[in-house]
Amino acid sequence: MFKKVCIIGCGLIGSSIARGIKKNKLAGKLVSSNRSNATNKKVIKLNIVDEASSDTKKMIKGSDLIIISSPLSSYKNVVLKIKSSLKSGAILTDVGSVKKKAISLVEKNIPKNVSWISSHPIAGTEESGPESGFSELFKNKWCILTPSKKSKNKDVKLLEKFWKKLGSRVDTMDAKQHDYILSITSHMPHLIAYNIVNTTLKIKKKKHRNIVRYSAGGLRDFTRIAASNPIMWRDIFIQNGDNTSKMIDKFIENLEDLKKAIKRKNEKKLEKIFTKTKKIRKEIIEAGQDVSKPDFGRKQN
Ligand code: NAP
Repeated sequence: MFKKVCIIGCGLIGSSIARGIKKNKLAGKLVSSNRSNATNKKVIKLNIVDEASSDTKKMIKGSDLIIISSPLSSYKNVVLKIKSSLKSGAILTDVGSVKKKAISLVEKNIPKNVSWISSHPIAGTEESGPESGFSELFKNKWCILTPSKKSKNKDVKLLEKFWKKLGSRVDTMDAKQHDYILSITSHMPHLIAYNIVNTTLKIKKKKHRNIVRYSAGGLRDFTRIAASNPIMWRDIFIQNGDNTSKMIDKFIENLEDLKKAIKRKNEKKLEKIFTKTKKIRKEIIEAGQDVSKPDFGRKQN
């Protein structure tokens, strides 16, 4: 599909893409550039890519597809470093979780003869680094494409085909819509998880053992989410600050409403809210985004 592909940042997402490329034979040559020599050595040793170096300019030379999968806060450095070495006619994409700021930063800096099409695979785990990636990560998961002013239609189609070969379902969305939708489907749930787990940390030390020992399904699920990559999530909340702040306001309003209902022992109101929320679970299962099987999440004897 491509003669040479370069992945800048071969961590969880980058190495999963690399593994998918190798498995499906989508590139003649596959290279990567990471910040540290340790990661460059690791991705070679694990046979994830053919070549790796922190010399990003050298790695992208002659690449038809370049995928930025480093943290959002590294984009400026990365783009300024690569902009004069991109091959004419190349496709440049990324996997960043927030779109508006990143798209305009890249759009302003890359040459006209390069097609810049942003991607967001909505797939991940709470793990980081090249060891944690796997080729099936994108299977049946959505990948949102956000074309820019510098995207060529034929390249959008080719990139769509690429993500489909990795197993994704592909859709396109503009940056504004993407950042708004993701603020409620992904960013807010993470913020709530970080806050619940942070709240347990503030409960008296004496009680800590019992919190861990008797962690019910609810807290357990939140601890998994709150164990996600701190740098990645710091960047997401900074870059999607406007949308998440508005969602936090809505959330506080609803929480106050629930608190009032609890204090006033308003059974009817609580029952009404909890019945309505069941419906969205049903819709998510019907849309194939989850299965209805209960997940007990405990070690079995
Ligand atoms: P990760 O596992 O921590 O990997 C990040 C990679 O980027 C590492 O290989 C790191 O190399 C490299 N890197 C960091 N700074 C760099 C720089 N200045 N130049 C070149 N490489 C650099 O992170 P990840 O979870 O894969 O996330 C990467 C991107 O994917 C983020 O933009 C995130 O928004 C997006 N994303 C993540 C998920 C998820 O669930 N994790 C889902 C969808 C999208 P070193 O080890 O050498 O520092």
